[in-house]
Amino acid sequence: MSGTGVDSDVTYAKGVGPRLAPILNKMGILTIRDLLYHLPRRYEDRSNLPPIAMARAGQFVTVRGRILDFEGKATRRGGMVILKALITDGTGKIVLTWFNQPWIKKTLQDYDGEIIAFGQVKAGSSWLEINTPEFELLNEEASGEEFARIVPIYPLTEGLGQKTIRKAVQNALDRYLDEIEEPLPNYLRRAYNLPDIKESLVAIHRPTDEDKRLTARNRFVFEDFLYLQLALQISRAQVQAEIGTAFPITQLIQAVPPSGPTTSSNGLFEADDEQARNSEPLWDQIHRLLPFELTGAQKRVIGEIFSDMEQPTPMNRLVQGDVGSGKTAVASAAALAAIRCGYQVALMAPTEILAEQHFASTRRLFEPVGINVGLLVGRQGKREREQNLAALASGKVQLVVGTQALIQEHVAFHKLGLVIIDEQHRFGVLQRAALRQKGYGNPDVLVMTATPIPRTLTMTLFGDLDLSIIDELPPGRKPIKTHWRALGERGMVYEGIRKMIQEGQQVYVVCPMVGESDKMTAQAAEDLHYRLTTSVFPDYKVGLLHGQQKAKEKDEAMEKFRGGEFNLLVSTTVIEVGVDVPNASVMVVEDANRFGLSQLHQLRGRVGRGNKQSYCILIADAKNDDAQARMEIMVNTQDGFKIAEEDLRLRGPGEIAGTKQSGSLDFKIADLVQDGKMLEQARQAAIKIIGSDPHLTRPENAAMLRIVKSKPSHLALIASS
Ligand code: ADP
Ligand code: MG
Repeated sequence: MSGTGVDSDVTYAKGVGPRLAPILNKMGILTIRDLLYHLPRRYEDRSNLPPIAMARAGQFVTVRGRILDFEGKATRRGGMVILKALITDGTGKIVLTWFNQPWIKKTLQDYDGEIIAFGQVKAGSSWLEINTPEFELLNEEASGEEFARIVPIYPLTEGLGQKTIRKAVQNALDRYLDEIEEPLPNYLRRAYNLPDIKESLVAIHRPTDEDKRLTARNRFVFEDFLYLQLALQISRAQVQAEIGTAFPITQLIQAVPPSGPTTSSNGLFEADDEQARNSEPLWDQIHRLLPFELTGAQKRVIGEIFSDMEQPTPMNRLVQGDVGSGKTAVASAAALAAIRCGYQVALMAPTEILAEQHFASTRRLFEPVGINVGLLVGRQGKREREQNLAALASGKVQLVVGTQALIQEHVAFHKLGLVIIDEQHRFGVLQRAALRQKGYGNPDVLVMTATPIPRTLTMTLFGDLDLSIIDELPPGRKPIKTHWRALGERGMVYEGIRKMIQEGQQVYVVCPMVGESDKMTAQAAEDLHYRLTTSVFPDYKVGLLHGQQKAKEKDEAMEKFRGGEFNLLVSTTVIEVGVDVPNASVMVVEDANRFGLSQLHQLRGRVGRGNKQSYCILIADAKNDDAQARMEIMVNTQDGFKIAEEDLRLRGPGEIAGTKQSGSLDFKIADLVQDGKMLEQARQAAIKIIGSDPHLTRPENAAMLRIVKSKPSHLALIASS
C-alpha cells in the first residue's frame, strides 16, 4: 500500500519504516494519526546560543562550531568508551564528551563541517565541557534553526531515540496535519475556550510561544478527561435506563409495629417468625438490632441508599467514609432492607480475614431475627462448600459473605437483589464493571471505600456512581496519638508498650512487605514474632498472623486476639483493611517508611475504634526529606482525605488506591495531580453532553463517540453495563 492517509500504518510515515514501526506499535502508535497524537511530556529550551567564550559552568547552552580535535579511547579497565571533541566558534573552545556511545565516533571522526550541540556546561581540566550533549551536524538540510529552539521531549521506549521520534513527528506534521479533523464540536470548544486541533498540534509539537503551548496542552488534557468522563456518563446512563428492583422500602418503614411486648429482643422473633419480623417498622428494627445509636451521617447515608433502592432503576452508589466511620452498620441496614423485601444479598470483602469478620458480625446481628447468613471462602472443604452453594441456590441463605470469588465463580442465587462491595479500592474499576456483565440480572450495587481517595481520583475511578459520604465519626472517639520513632529508639518503644499491656491494652505490631515476596514477608513476621516471644515479651502472649498461614491458623490467631487471649499480635498487612477489634488500642508499625501514606492511615485505622486513648507508633529512619515529610504528615494529620491528597502528590495515582490496573486509563497527557480543575470541567461537560445526547448519536458528537470507543479501558466501561 503506498496511498498513505493519516490513518494508514505508521510504517508508511516518513522516517519510520518497517524497522521502527514495531517499536512504535509497542507504545500504542499504530497509525500516522497516533504518531501525531504522541504528545511530548516536557520540553528542552535550547534557544540560548551564546558565543562559546560566554558560556559558564552550570548553564544549559547550545553551542555551534567546528571540530578542532577528536579523540576516542577505551578506559583502562576496558568496557567504557569515551569520545571527546574539542570545538570552537572563534570566540572560545569547549569539549563535548560522550560516554559509551561508540557509534558517534564514525559520525565525527573525519567530519570537518559545523556541529551544533546542547547540554549543561561543566568545568573541565583545561576547557569547559558538556557531557553527553545532544548534537546535530549542520549542512544544507539542517541549518541549526530547528535545533536551537524549544524542543519537545517525547516518551520513549527501548530502541527508540529522542531524535528519531522527534523527526518522525515533525515529518508527519508537515505532511498530514491537514487531514486531521476536529473531534470536539464547536459548541464545546467555544464554551471551554479550547483551541482548534490543528493549531493545538502545532503548538504542542513545535512550541514557539509559551502561552499557546499551554493552551494547547489544556486542550489535550481536557480531551483526555472528557473521553473518560463521557464513557463513565454513558455507562451511568445505561444503568439508569435498565430495569432493576424497586424495593418497597417505604412500606417497610411504615409497617405497623407488632403487637405485644417489644422490650425484649430475644424471644420476640423466633427463627421462623417471619411475619412478626416483617411487621416491625424498618427503622425501629435497625435501631433495635444495632448495639449503638447511629450517627447523623450514617442515618443520612442509609436514607440515600433506601431511596435509591426504592427506584426501579438499579442502584449504583459509592459510600465513602474514613476508617472507623461505621460503614459496616450502613451496609447492614441496606442488607436488612433487601432481605425483608424477600431478596438475597451478597457482601464481598477484599480478603478472607475481613470476610470472616463480616460473617461473624452479621450473624450476630441477623440470626436473632431469623435471617440465615452464609459464608463462602477458599478454606472450606468441598462438602461444606456444596452445602453452602445449595443453600444459596434454594434461597435458604439470605445473606452470603465472601471474597470477590463469590461473584466471579458464577455462584447461583435464588433471587439476588443487592450486592455490597466492601473496601472497593481493592477491586479494580474494570472488575466492578465486569460484575454487571456476569449475568446476575440487575442487582442494586453498593460500593464502600474506606480509603478516602482524593476527589480527582474518585471522579476518575467511580465517576459513574452516585456518591454518599459518611463525614462523621461515631461519638466518643479520641484522636489517635501518632508518634514517630527512630530505629534506635525501639527499646524505649517496647518499654512503653509493656506499660500499656499491663493496663490491659492490646497491641498490633505490623511488619511490612519485604520485597515483593509474600514468603519473605511471612519469614520477617515469624522472625519478629520469635524475637518478641523469646526476648522482649516472654511473659506475654504474642500471636502471629501472615499471608502464608493456613486459613485455619489465620482464623485462630484473629479469634484469639479478638477474644483477648493475645496481648500482642504480630501481623503483616493482611490486617490492613476492615479488621475491627475495638479493644486493641496500640499499633506499632515497623519500617513505616516502606508504606504509602494512605496505607499507613488505613493500618492506623485498626486502632482508635473503641473509646480508649489509642496510639500509633511509626518506627522509621527517614533517610531523606521526602521520607521525613511523609512521617510528619502521619504524625500531624488524622484526616484520611488530606492524607490521600498528599499521597497522590508524592507518589502519583498509579500507586495509591489500588489503581495500578488503571494504568489502562488511557490518558495521553493529563495528570491527576496538577490537572484537577480541568477534570472537574470535563466532568461537567460530559454530564451536560450525555444529558442531552445519552448515546452520542448526534452528528456533531459522532467523532467523540468514535474516540471513546477506540480506548479499550473506556470501552470496557460502556460495554459492560
Ligand atoms: P469502617 O467504616 O472502617 O468499616 P466499621 O464499620 O468497622 O468502620 O466501624 C468501626 C467501629 O465503630 C466498629 O467497632 C463499630 O461497631 C463501631 N461503630 C460504628 N458505628 C457506630 C456508632 N454510630 N456508634 C458507636 N460505634 C459505632
Ligand atoms: Mg469496614
